[in-house]
Amino acid sequence: MKTITSVDQLQKTLNSYRRANKKIAFIPTMGALHDGHLSLINQGNKKADITVCSIFVNPTQFNNKEDLKKYPRTLKADADLLRKHKCDILFAPGVNEIYPPGLKTKVDIPLNKLDQVMEGKFRPGHFAGMLQVVKRLLDIVQPDFLIMGQKDFQQFTLVDYMIHYLNLPVKLIVGKILREKTGLAMSSRNVRLSTMMRKEAACIYKSLKWLKKHWQENNRTTIRKYVKSTLSKHNIELEYIEIVDGLSLSRANKKTRYAVACLACWTENVRLIDNIILKRPKN
Ligand code: AMP
Repeated sequence: MKTITSVDQLQKTLNSYRRANKKIAFIPTMGALHDGHLSLINQGNKKADITVCSIFVNPTQFNNKEDLKKYPRTLKADADLLRKHKCDILFAPGVNEIYPPGLKTKVDIPLNKLDQVMEGKFRPGHFAGMLQVVKRLLDIVQPDFLIMGQKDFQQFTLVDYMIHYLNLPVKLIVGKILREKTGLAMSSRNVRLSTMMRKEAACIYKSLKWLKKHWQENNRTTIRKYVKSTLSKHNIELEYIEIVDGLSLSRANKKTRYAVACLACWTENVRLIDNIILKRPKN
């Protein structure tokens, strides 16, 4: 595996692969890699000839300075894991490579309120920063495939929207959520939880599974009440639970063809998110 920190060097390397007709898969991450990330690397290896993983803790998508400061940074261990999983290139740039002074990188497109619900409501500015870094990374890497996780449902929905809106020449592939044995969705933030809470937090996925069975016979208020009280029994505070249309992210109703439940919650000063697809369109 090659580790590259400069945009120039990365582009030279990737151009030589492109000239040899190699297909490129790209997995953007913020590091502190776990099996969820690595499952995306495996998918990249299956799909393309060259797999590129970026590790960049993007300051522009953090609305909370403390969260940015506390975000785990484990580059050496990450590089070892990527090597083990046969990633071809680790791109680990500094902030000045991604945001060189004077370069316009903000993405200025209408977002049709996709950025204003759920995560957008509770993390103002998060999606503007996320789209900014994903667009910048896509411009740099120019991959054939972009691989992202369903774990961040609203994130890939916005990226998918941006790809279509700007007609970007890349195919988005979404990988399923990898979970710990208990059912807790894997996340780089889980290392900040106590061992006990890591077990208690299994109730998050349990309530999502309950929802999958019962959402049609309950209204929004009873669903919120149920999830809030289930989580609070385990010392977890619900921030939001929404059932939305998987494309528009507007509130779903019983007739919605593609319905997804998304939630965010807090425990031990750590913010966790998770989601479950309740209903998928047949085609
Ligand atoms: P992050 O490093 O948290 O920005 O995540 C990088 C990518 O990994 C994103 O596309 C996430 O959706 C994906 N990801 C994070 N957690 C998981 C998981 N548990 N299972 C699958 N993919 C994940």
